[in-house]
Amino acid sequence: MIITVEYLEERHRFWMARIAEAGIWNADNFDVVKLEVRPHSKTCRGKFYSTFRASKGFVERIVIYQQYPDITVREIDDTLVHEMIHQYIRQSMLRDTSTHGKLFRRFMKQINKAFPEELEIGISYKVTPRKGEGLTMHKLLLLESSKGYCFCCKLMPSKVDEFLAQAERLKGSGTIRSYALCESRDQYFDEQRACRTRLHGLRLTLPRLQALCEECNIRKVRII
Ligand SMILES: [Zn+2]
Repeated sequence: MIITVEYLEERHRFWMARIAEAGIWNADNFDVVKLEVRPHSKTCRGKFYSTFRASKGFVERIVIYQQYPDITVREIDDTLVHEMIHQYIRQSMLRDTSTHGKLFRRFMKQINKAFPEELEIGISYKVTPRKGEGLTMHKLLLLESSKGYCFCCKLMPSKVDEFLAQAERLKGSGTIRSYALCESRDQYFDEQRACRTRLHGLRLTLPRLQALCEECNIRKVRII
């Protein structure tokens, strides 16, 4: 079938409610998400990610790829619910051990068990959670938004000055309260995609961010 945004919105509502009825998650924890359809991708079937723009603030999205024209309802559901687990973990401010960590897998198993005829969510590539000091020093930009939550963004080292200038503008416009340029060598950040042109990253509450700073030995380079 040809996937449309309207179709995804309907399936998103459907699975949010059914999985909540099964007692696996709380539908109230879901916040707004923008659903998108994109053409074939070689590397993934779907993705959940957040962007940050001065004009719109934080926008969280789920992208589903039209892998081939005759993709089935079942394949779309498997991918969509996989991304909804990412959305749920992020928007409930839960912390996982990695992208597809212990918490993600627990949700995945519970959902697969509750809907054996309808879903078989998987993880397409193997990710082993890694932590502790690694070889790379990562540049991180921590932001506190005016709405009270925080964002931890890994930056491409060559783009640090550009993002600092952007953060200064966001602070000037009142979109964010404060920001800090930080560094960490923790392997937790090794697999995260670095911001190149736009800010994206982990959304956290302030206490979670403080915990992350301690766990990953994040130290401040510049406080603004
Ligand atoms: Zn995933």
